[in-house]
Amino acid sequence: MKELYQKIKEHIENADAILIGASNGLSISEGYNIFADDNWFQENFSDFRSSYGIHSILEGSFYHFPSVEAKWAFSSRLISRKCYQEEPSQMMKDLHALVSSRDCFVVTSNTEDHFIPAGFSREQVFEMEGRMTQSRCASDCCEDVYENREDILRMAKAEKNGLVPSELIPRCPRCGSPVTVNFADSQLFFQTRQFQNKMQDYQNFVRKYRGKNLVILEFGVGWRNRMIKEPLMQLTASEPNAVYITFNKGEIYIPNEISDRSIGVDGDITEALREILISSSENCCRPQTPPPHPSDTL
Ligand SMILES: [Zn+2]
Repeated sequence: MKELYQKIKEHIENADAILIGASNGLSISEGYNIFADDNWFQENFSDFRSSYGIHSILEGSFYHFPSVEAKWAFSSRLISRKCYQEEPSQMMKDLHALVSSRDCFVVTSNTEDHFIPAGFSREQVFEMEGRMTQSRCASDCCEDVYENREDILRMAKAEKNGLVPSELIPRCPRCGSPVTVNFADSQLFFQTRQFQNKMQDYQNFVRKYRGKNLVILEFGVGWRNRMIKEPLMQLTASEPNAVYITFNKGEIYIPNEISDRSIGVDGDITEALREILISSSENCCRPQTPPPHPSDTL
């Protein structure tokens, strides 16, 4: 594995830009598993387990609660603990440290908003399925979105017996409906200005580095994922200088067409990132300036 990590480090150091794709597997490596009835869920949501039979974050996020007060009790507890009160994990800090010297863009279906606390800028990250740290009108009367930190922390603090006091339920300033977490819960999400603008940023990034040394780092994306993985594989196929590096535990998929420019890392992502960060590439003793790009010398 050591040679593999060194090779990856070398690719990153020689990159003009880095494109990151991330999905559930990255969250799970951090200990945030939306599918599991694990220790964390049982410790934090035992009341919701017994009252409603909810056995995972995913079930709770889409559960039809009997009242908006109960819905926000679940959501504000989850979001306050997972998005606002946790320190960035070592894994996310390692990821940022590894790529921070290069122009970088992130596409992710993860909604817990852990890239920004680790050091990435808002402009660099495209949450393709929304993020829990943002709210919008539940009646979809408009496309406005709101940063929800204050509302969430206030509700989480006041929550009692699985209910948030009614007067704390945040409401849409335009129509007065309760707001909801800004997830991609219908096709409308993908038609909003916010989504379309981010998609444009993603396309602009790809266009900017066409023909350059683009390193694609993909973390924890299932082999059948069409939103993140398929476009990244297609991009690799169409970009002769791109390198595709996919990290996933027990599920590495690399099509034959791009296998000569791809690397699969089958194992724990936290450990892999740490090892890559501390490994020294073959270039370690050479000057820090990157070598001239072949297209610059033509
Ligand atoms: Zn509204």
